[in-house]
Amino acid sequence: MSNSRFLAAIALTLAISATLSAQVLRSNSLAAAGGSGDTRLEHFDPDLADKTLDPCDDFYKYSCSKWLTANPIPSDQVFWSTGSGLQLWNEGALRDTLEAASKNDEGRGPVQQKIGDYWGACMDESGIEAAGLKPLQPELARIAALKSKKEMTVEIARLHHLYPGAWQGGDNQSNSPFFGFTGQQDFDNASLMVGAIDQAGLSLPNRDYYLNSDDKSKDLLSKYRTHIQKMFVLAGESESQAATDAGIVNELETAMAKAQMDNIKRRDPKNINNKMSLAQVRALTPSIDWDAYLKATRAPASDHYIVTSPDFFRALDKMINDHPLDHWKAYLRWQVVHRSAPYMTKAMVDENFDFFARTLAGAEEQQPRWRRCVRAADRDLGEALGQAYVDRAFPPESKARTLQMVHAIETALHSDIQSLAWMSPETKQQAVVKLKGIEDKIGYPSHWRDYSSVQIVRNSYVNNVAQATGFEFERWVAKIGQTVDRSEWTMTPPTINAYYDPQLNTINFPAGILQPPFFDPAKDDAVNYGAIGMVIGHEIIHGFDDQGRKFDANGNLRDWWTADDAKKYDERGKCISDEYTQEVPEAGAGVKQNGLLTQGEDTADNGGIHLALAALEVSLKQQGKSLDDKGDDGWTYRQRFFLSFAYSWCANIRPQIARVVVTTDPHSLPVFRINNVVSNMSEFEQAFSCKPGQKMVRTNSCRVW
Ligand SMILES: [Zn+2]
Repeated sequence: MSNSRFLAAIALTLAISATLSAQVLRSNSLAAAGGSGDTRLEHFDPDLADKTLDPCDDFYKYSCSKWLTANPIPSDQVFWSTGSGLQLWNEGALRDTLEAASKNDEGRGPVQQKIGDYWGACMDESGIEAAGLKPLQPELARIAALKSKKEMTVEIARLHHLYPGAWQGGDNQSNSPFFGFTGQQDFDNASLMVGAIDQAGLSLPNRDYYLNSDDKSKDLLSKYRTHIQKMFVLAGESESQAATDAGIVNELETAMAKAQMDNIKRRDPKNINNKMSLAQVRALTPSIDWDAYLKATRAPASDHYIVTSPDFFRALDKMINDHPLDHWKAYLRWQVVHRSAPYMTKAMVDENFDFFARTLAGAEEQQPRWRRCVRAADRDLGEALGQAYVDRAFPPESKARTLQMVHAIETALHSDIQSLAWMSPETKQQAVVKLKGIEDKIGYPSHWRDYSSVQIVRNSYVNNVAQATGFEFERWVAKIGQTVDRSEWTMTPPTINAYYDPQLNTINFPAGILQPPFFDPAKDDAVNYGAIGMVIGHEIIHGFDDQGRKFDANGNLRDWWTADDAKKYDERGKCISDEYTQEVPEAGAGVKQNGLLTQGEDTADNGGIHLALAALEVSLKQQGKSLDDKGDDGWTYRQRFFLSFAYSWCANIRPQIARVVVTTDPHSLPVFRINNVVSNMSEFEQAFSCKPGQKMVRTNSCRVW
């Protein structure tokens, strides 16, 4: 959860994990592996390259095919990558911490009590089974007792407190009942925290899942409707009532989907920067009692509100008026049943898995309970849990060496900006100001979040999730009108991901990704610059991609480009988006990637690797070496750099989840993150002596940074 609309991350599963139900995705498992002692980190090995293949024909295959063959996807996973061993290792480390804290001895401190009891309640499947539907009953009774549509508003506020997903960062829209609400930095004045109101209301990954008319989409939607019906039956409704309610929910969500702004349009911050006074918000959607909502969420007064999509709220108002209260009660019941399903009885967990993980994403079986509980604890109490992870897995030497790489890569961008032939001196000067304004955050926050107000009990998992969610929701809302805190993180320390925040102008690398195969303390610079160096370059470039370039050094949405430079930038950006508008057979026949959705990430991939390579060259020079010298293993440093880059992205992916990623995620699939990038680079051509006409040598190669 985050306040920023445009957090730009490195990993491809961000959108999926945010959108699908909590129990599912973000990655991978080795069935019932035990603690971290059983798991294996992957280390780069150049011998994994398949020398029977031609690197200039398909570099991804050349670098990854041996690994891919040896590492099929476990049945409880939807993809399996070279980072998956690390994911499991990280989760094993967290499990050790949680288990130790769950031993209910007198000496536990408050942090241990919270994480330990959270774990105990989550792992207590027989207790959850015995409680049955009881945890849902107060909420369902409240909905049943609603007497008017006006009264629904307070129930919406309650649901925003109770269930995870009320607000998501990145290009993802809010994933919450009706709409999303949070505190965020104002686009035009980044030092001002204001209330932001976003379109939402769906349960499927995005609007296309309701609106597309191809056979596959229609089939999925009909299966979704059956799933809703089954869940209502599990929640105690009769078959016929459940069928009627499923139809209503489907109709309402589809109408909301139709009213939503699409994800391409949302990528331009100008399109969602709609400022409104409270009076204007009231007038926009009179059927929502905004005063009651703000009171129920304890929202401080806001200078103004940002309403991302006024058209959505106009349509929502009409929908609320057109449908009877009973329809909305069915929709609210669905929100309660659906959003609490991962924390409920086995029957509900299984049915939720069956649709959202099996049908939608392609998983064959569920992850073991412990992994689901570790992820939930990381999401809900991440900075309490993360402290032990940092102590165990992130020594000061790792922090020092990665920080040094960050500085080297920032220096590389500084040189790149100075040398650009297409950019005027005025814009260059502004770009340097922005670059120098970036704050580098490595590993973990400088001070840990205080969870003392979160009540965690041993005997109710649903309650604990609701407590933690309410805390996080109110924590963001309470920021309205307050000072901006640049030191905060929106990813937890063990997260295998990284992000750039354009409104804070910070780059953030959690300790979780500063591990093998991304950062390997035992390896030389060529290997580390190819893997984590490219990730660092990627995040820095996000400050200068098609979204990031619209924000200035202080995080304000302000145009600092000359008109001519902006035009030249757009031409270069178009080269990238045209190139990545491509067929994706990995996701099924006829599935096409929209390069306008992935343009920012693709720009960051292409620019990031140039910066990493330039920084490596400087580092080698300092050691009296050059890129084309050979190391002990017979490969040149330049070759090892590219091999390590590719290796860090090797991934087997199920076609079902590939389809979800292509249609909703701003990141390209790994195969394109390697092959499109290297085919744009003369440096790669040189590394492997590729010839014009070969597939990895593009005739119209693109270059922004
Ligand atoms: Zn990114």
